[in-house]
Amino acid sequence: MQIDAIYVYVRGEYADWIDRLEAAVQQAYGRGYIGERILGTDFSTQLYVHKGAGAYICGEETGLMESLEGKRAYPRYKPPFPAQKGLWGCPTTINNVETLAHVPLVLRLGAQAYAQIGAPEHPGPILYGLSGHINRPGVYEYPSGMLITDLIYEVGGGIRNGRRLKGVVPGGSSTPILRPEEIEGVRMSADALRKAGSMMGTAGMLVLDDQTDMVRFAYRIAAFYKHESCGQCTPCREGTGWMKQILHRFLEGTATYADIDRLLSVANQIEGRTICALADAAVWPIRAIVQKYRSEFEKAARPTLVPV
Ligand code: SF4
Repeated sequence: MQIDAIYVYVRGEYADWIDRLEAAVQQAYGRGYIGERILGTDFSTQLYVHKGAGAYICGEETGLMESLEGKRAYPRYKPPFPAQKGLWGCPTTINNVETLAHVPLVLRLGAQAYAQIGAPEHPGPILYGLSGHINRPGVYEYPSGMLITDLIYEVGGGIRNGRRLKGVVPGGSSTPILRPEEIEGVRMSADALRKAGSMMGTAGMLVLDDQTDMVRFAYRIAAFYKHESCGQCTPCREGTGWMKQILHRFLEGTATYADIDRLLSVANQIEGRTICALADAAVWPIRAIVQKYRSEFEKAARPTLVPV
C-alpha cells in the first residue's frame, strides 16, 4: 500500500479551527504518527491542511479536488470516479473528517460493540447540529437514530419563547422540510427519514417556529443556492436564478397564483439534469416548502389575471 499524501480540506474562514488542526498535525509529526517511516515501518506519508476559498461547492468531492489543484472548484463529470482518477489524476479516496473520526472508536470498542450504537443501518455516534428557533442551539454528539422530537425538546430545550413548531428541516438546508405531524415517532436515520419524505443529509437540523414566514424562508434558501451555483450547467445556473426571482415576486407583492406552479415547474426542470447534486439540493427544499405550505404562497400572491 502506498499513500503519498493526505489532505485535510477546511473552509478558510474557520481560522481558529485551522490553527488547532495544524498544531495537532505538528504533534502527530513529532510523535512519528505521520511522515517518514511511520512508527519504524516502511510506510511513509505526508499530511497537509488546506484552507479552502469559502465556496459551498468546494464540499463536492470533485469540486474539492479541482480546488486543491489550484483551479476553480468546478465539479467534474463522473465517471471517472475519484477512486479511478482523482487528485492530479491519481486514485483518490475522499471522506468526511467526521467519518474518519469514527475509526478510533471502532478500533477501541470492536466492530460488534460499535454496531450496537444507534440506528442499525448506519450505527455509531453522529454530530447533530441544532439551529433555528430553539432554546439551546449547538452541535451535539449522540447515537444515530435519535427521535427528532427528543433532539428538539430534550437536547435542544424546546422551541424558543414557548412557541409552537411549524416545521423541521432535518438534515441541512437541502433536505425537504417536515411538518410537525410528520416527525412524530421519526428517528434520525436514513431509512426512517426516507419513509417520512426527507433525508438524513448532514444531520444539521433547522427548527422553525409558528411565526416563520415560509415564503421568505423559501426565498432565503433559493438565494443561497443561486449564489453558490458554480454556473457550469445551464439548468442550475439559470434555474436557481429563476426560482429566486419568482420567489422575490411573492415578497414584493407582484406574484400571481400562476407563479406558484411556475416555480414548481422550474424546479422540476432542474432536477437530475446537472453535473453535480447542488442543483437537486436547490430544488428539494423549495418544492417541499411550496407543497406543504402552499396556502402561504397563495396568500402572498394575487389571483392570476385572465385577459378579456
Ligand atoms: S449543478 Fe450547479 S453547482 Fe453543480 S456543476 Fe452544475 S452549475 Fe455547478
